[in-house]
Amino acid sequence: DRDNEPGGIVVVGLGRFGGHLAGALIRLDHEVLAIDRNADLVQRWSDQLDRVAQADATDEDTLRQLGVAEFRRAVVAIGASVEASVLTVLALVELGVPQVWARATSAKHAKILASVGAHHVIFPEAETGEHVAHLIVTRMLNF
Ligand code: ATP
Repeated sequence: DRDNEPGGIVVVGLGRFGGHLAGALIRLDHEVLAIDRNADLVQRWSDQLDRVAQADATDEDTLRQLGVAEFRRAVVAIGASVEASVLTVLALVELGVPQVWARATSAKHAKILASVGAHHVIFPEAETGEHVAHLIVTRMLNF
């Protein structure tokens, strides 16, 4: 229900990044609908998540059938395949999901994500690298 914030969040891709993200959202008491095309991963996550679906998220009709259009927020956590990531963002935007977050692995990937309508683009590897650099420098100053 779109009027029901905080409400549920769709997470596409249960790799290392998407898996940790989904787990953290659950611990923050959010309902998560997770989608991954890998049946083993879906099986592995099925006890922890309220809803996990095995599906190809690039397909708009499949997403509609899963009820994704009712969600206000979605995160595309696919990294390795730029094509799958871009097509999934496009499908979510076409469905009218108002807040689409997408993971980029390069500056060009980020540009494409923004041009197909992603509302927020995130760079987990770059952000973590920067964060750890700051941690190390701070510790060198303090200890
Ligand atoms: P991570 O670094 O988070 O482990 P990765 O870059 O190694 O991710 P990816 O190939 O980006 O791995 O895939 C992340 C997850 O997204 C995988 O579990 C994969 O099965 C899933 N995935 C990839 N393409 C699709 C798709 N079209 N539909 C649904 N899930 C997908």
